[in-house]
Amino acid sequence: MIEIKNMKKSYELGDEIVHALQDVSLQIYEGDFLSIIGPSGSGKSTFMNMLGCLDIPDSGEYLLDGKNVATMKDIELAMVRNVKIGFIFQHFNLLNKLTALENVELPLVYRGLGAKERREKAAACLDLVGLNGRYQHLPTQLSGGQQQRVAIARALAGNPSVLLADEPTGALDSKTSNEVLQLLKELNEKGHVIILITHDLEVAKQAKRVIRIHDGKVFENGGDWFEPARI
Ligand code: ADP
Ligand code: ADP
Repeated sequence: MIEIKNMKKSYELGDEIVHALQDVSLQIYEGDFLSIIGPSGSGKSTFMNMLGCLDIPDSGEYLLDGKNVATMKDIELAMVRNVKIGFIFQHFNLLNKLTALENVELPLVYRGLGAKERREKAAACLDLVGLNGRYQHLPTQLSGGQQQRVAIARALAGNPSVLLADEPTGALDSKTSNEVLQLLKELNEKGHVIILITHDLEVAKQAKRVIRIHDGKVFENGGDWFEPARI
């Protein structure tokens, strides 16, 4: 469902050129759950921006559900992003003046759904993440783990092809982290493709596949050794 071939991205930094992604190739399959792990400066954010259709590479291909995203203009990219990707962030990024239900409804407002349909869809997503009975709570009335569940429900609301989670457990204690990871596993079992970006190996290991990124190159965990990613 995702095929990345020979993706390259560089930045100019004064006189220097930084090769943030060097010839990255990677396939992501239906039902996949992969984590991307790497130290600071390894290219994680750059790769996430590519995967999330927030930016395009200098060269190479990015096929998402059969469409080449790598050559799209900003406006097309924004459309693909809205339809295909559900974003989950470290700090939840909820709107504090809106209830849990309203936060989840928000992406559906932009899609032009009617109020009743929006409400039903948002409620179903909150039920799915175990927050039935908390529709009217404000984010400030919820624990960190519950807030991340609201954010996951919001990411699910638009029925995206991929859930892209950037350090989703980074702001949570270890017990709550495990609960959120468990939820991601359950969603994966229901068929959602999940890409988890993290710097924490224990978190990364919860995924079905661990991709390591180092100096802009991508390696796949093949047992004891990190081998070049499957192409
Ligand atoms: P990570 O998210 O793993 O910390 P990044 O993708 O942010 O890594 O960065 C990869 C490399 O690209 C680093 O050397 C970083 O300094 C460089 N880089 C990232 N963004 C820019 C930018 N906008 N301009 C110049 N260099 C950048
Ligand atoms: P950081 O990695 O610095 O913690 P975030 O995880 O908040 O930053 O955001 C990662 C990237 O996603 C940024 O480039 C940001 O501009 C973008 N972004 C943030 N919120 C949204 C959103 N709701 N929809 C699409 N892109 C977003």
